[in-house]
Amino acid sequence: MKEIEVVIGLEVHVQLATATKMFCRCPNLFGQPPNTLICPVCMGLPGSLPVVNAKAVELGIKAALALNCHINREIIFERKNYFYPDLPKGYQISQYALPLAEEGFIEIEGKKIRIRRAHLEEDAGKLIHSSLGSGVDFNRAGVPLLEIVTEPDVHSPQQAYDYLTQLKTIMQYVGVSSCDMEKGFLRCDANISLPRKGEKLGVKTEVKNMNSFRGVKDALSYEIERQSEIIQKGGRIIQETRLWDEARRKTFSMRSKEEAHDYRYFPEPDLVKYTFTEEEIEKLRNSLPEMPQVKYERFKKQYKIEESLLKALVEEKNLADFFESSLRYYPQPKSVANWILGPLREIMNIKRIENIENIALSPDNFTKVVRMFDEKKLNNIATKKLLSLILENNENAAVVAEKNNLLQISNAADLEAWVEEAVRTNPKPVNDYLSGKKNALMFLVGVVMRKSSGQANPTVVKDLLVRRIKDEKSN
Ligand code: ADP
Ligand code: MG
Ligand code: ZN
Repeated sequence: MKEIEVVIGLEVHVQLATATKMFCRCPNLFGQPPNTLICPVCMGLPGSLPVVNAKAVELGIKAALALNCHINREIIFERKNYFYPDLPKGYQISQYALPLAEEGFIEIEGKKIRIRRAHLEEDAGKLIHSSLGSGVDFNRAGVPLLEIVTEPDVHSPQQAYDYLTQLKTIMQYVGVSSCDMEKGFLRCDANISLPRKGEKLGVKTEVKNMNSFRGVKDALSYEIERQSEIIQKGGRIIQETRLWDEARRKTFSMRSKEEAHDYRYFPEPDLVKYTFTEEEIEKLRNSLPEMPQVKYERFKKQYKIEESLLKALVEEKNLADFFESSLRYYPQPKSVANWILGPLREIMNIKRIENIENIALSPDNFTKVVRMFDEKKLNNIATKKLLSLILENNENAAVVAEKNNLLQISNAADLEAWVEEAVRTNPKPVNDYLSGKKNALMFLVGVVMRKSSGQANPTVVKDLLVRRIKDEKSN
């Protein structure tokens, strides 16, 4: 089968985590009762005037710099005119001719995905449909967004997924947004076409309504199937906007695509031109934290641990920070990384804590637990139990381990009685072992583990059992 060529361009909207909205002082908050965060400006009432939120501009510049963009020294805001019930003004203040930033890129496995532009705009409200009818919540109207548009440089659904993952990581590093897709803090529209031989681009469709990166990947895979089937049958793709239906795992046509001139962009008369000096931009550039790729390379040199662990740590800045803080107390990168990425995250999941910043457990106290495990004072199960017990209160690990009888018993004298009892009450496994069935020993170890409520050191128990059974034989 011949390879199908795939061309994808992504348009991502990221909500900026400012305290207030883009052009008014209403709080920028999620999940408040409908229409409680509104004012004449974001409702577009006559006579009200927008004022640009300087913090949003600053976050936008930092984000764009982190995406290797050129920041335009002069920018303007423009009105994008269209009618929609969640758009009270009848237009959206956006940018068109002189956007905030242009010509950036994100590098994925050595390949550059070019970023065409990144511009600031305001969000629309939200329609809410229920059995009572449809309503509009304007709390989101006027919330600042950064729209980031790529060149058509993405060539597979997997690459789109990787681009989005990397974009999210970068945004989180800069502190621009948590990029929580379920809350709509990051939204992605995916444009896709299958060019025919000799063509650079084909007729594209734009797919919307995906609410996870996985959804984007699946929707794009579906579109590749759908479009290639049409092309193979000699049909033509029509340029249109399609919606991804997650439940039915299909895209559906929503509308044929409007052209840019339909929006009648023109400069927002209530806002002035914005200019930036070289110094202002450089100051923001210098305020950026170490970016993920740089951190990855540094970690690789500094800590000799598996690449998959490194990748997972660097993908979330907070994890990487927690990891490095922990190493100051216990410089064992491998065990620290393993316990963070494995059990610690697992326990956070169970307790529904998404962000490691939101646990009470300090790196200092965390490393006490890891150290106890490495020193064989705790077995695996007890270590997890201890982490779970102190995750949300940061009580002293050593004290809690003692108080809850979690410390592993390795002392032969303290184990002898259990070993003796296990051997005495289980003659069959003992005989099985003596007749060469090595597995029978594990059964006996299990008996001792249960008797000790999991506290016995299984390695020591094993040795003691072997010795005890040999004695039994020679008696
Ligand atoms: P529109 O005006 O429909 O939004 P743009 O030209 O502004 O289209 O491009 C929007 C996005 O679609 C960009 O990310 C761009 O790279 C991508 N794109 C444009 N043309 C194509 C195409 N033929 N196939 C795939 N992606 C495309
Ligand atoms: Mg578009
Ligand atoms: Zn407002």
